[in-house]
Amino acid sequence: MQHSNDAWLARSRKAVWHPCTQMKRHETLPIVPIERGEGAWLIDFEGRRYLDGVSSWWVNLFGHANPRMNAAILDQMNRLEHVILAGFTQRPVVELSEQLAELTGLGHAFYGSDGASATEIALKMSFHYWRNTGCAQKNEFVSLENSYHGETLGALSVTDVPLFRDTYAPLLRPSHRVASPDWRLAEPGETPEAYALRAAANLEALLIERGAQIAAVIVEPLCQGAAGMAMYHPAYLTRVRALCDEYEVHLIADEIAMGFGRTGTFFACEQAGVRPDFICLSKGITGGYLPLSVVLTTDQIYGAFYDDDVTRGFLHSHSYTGNALACRAALEVLAIFRDDDVLSANRHKAAEVASDFARLAAHPRVKNARHMGMIWAFEVVDAQAGFSGRFFSAALEQGLLVRPVNNTVYLMPPYVVTVAELRAVFDTISTLLDTDACR
Ligand SMILES: *Cc1c(COP(=O)(O)O)cnc(C)c1O
Repeated sequence: MQHSNDAWLARSRKAVWHPCTQMKRHETLPIVPIERGEGAWLIDFEGRRYLDGVSSWWVNLFGHANPRMNAAILDQMNRLEHVILAGFTQRPVVELSEQLAELTGLGHAFYGSDGASATEIALKMSFHYWRNTGCAQKNEFVSLENSYHGETLGALSVTDVPLFRDTYAPLLRPSHRVASPDWRLAEPGETPEAYALRAAANLEALLIERGAQIAAVIVEPLCQGAAGMAMYHPAYLTRVRALCDEYEVHLIADEIAMGFGRTGTFFACEQAGVRPDFICLSKGITGGYLPLSVVLTTDQIYGAFYDDDVTRGFLHSHSYTGNALACRAALEVLAIFRDDDVLSANRHKAAEVASDFARLAAHPRVKNARHMGMIWAFEVVDAQAGFSGRFFSAALEQGLLVRPVNNTVYLMPPYVVTVAELRAVFDTISTLLDTDACR
């Protein structure tokens, strides 16, 4: 009994406060205890297998218990697990910073542990840059409608998801919201590109009016994940980059979810040919193994902090900054991308399942079917209240872990998923859409 699912879910319900969860729901909705992982699969205490269709909240890239990742972390563990990064350094953090600089064209890496702390770091750094350069009045931020940048107070102040935000609104500093370029919002007959440019005009209007007070614009490049995989045309980013230059405002690219190959290129910004002033990375950075985040920025911004005066330096720290194990995991992730040519392998996989996804897209309940890199998503046209929970439970019964956002069903699997597994997932989803339980 101690080893069954039931025992573990009861103990978890009693002792663990689960994230983003009304715990009372678990009186009826079971928590799923996972004993081990294997590639794209999670396995519970009774041996049932679930395909991890959400990459364990968008973090896993190369599967669970990946032997190559395990070996790298074990090797690091036997040398050095962690050392204070103020006044000290170590191999993994230096090598990782150099390699990320090479990949982003941004030469200075500042570390945190979670995505939300990367957002905090980028916002503080942008403001402090303007303060150091005699423009302290530039202290306002702009984000997109339906944006998500994390849930600590600073990050939440640039997040536009009412469920996460409304309760805590009195604690948040006001910030500006501009039109989302999400192509689902286009007028009938308007192309995604034309709509993206129209959305950018909304930002321009704000910058004309308030540019002198604005420090930075923060965006999720190409796809707003938490908004329900809201995808948009790269022309938006190109235009925003030009506007930020014109009005002397920083561009912060939050690639926490979309970086590391998720959109098909290594970074989403590459598809628009833009270099942001700050890039925030986390989630896939360690392949889903260890918490790590980083903000990279330009020589020019770094230079404005470089001084004899302590208070002109960046005043921010976390205990686990630059953790050696996490940095070593990230180095292994980068090595796997190089050695296994992961981006082109993913492209081939996506091409092979294109017709299978097209068949699912033709289902009468499916609307706005869309695909980008290793993300597949659509809306369910006639979803009733509570659809997302019912679909989650029904899919789990079929050995598939997906967590719809309202009526948006999306698939964001680890890159080790096979073509056969993807096809089976599309079939499962199509079958579920036919059942009464998934109305
Ligand atoms: C998940 C996410 C974050 C926050 O990261 P956490 O590690 O959950 O704090 C920020 N921005 C985006 C775009 C994300 O998807």
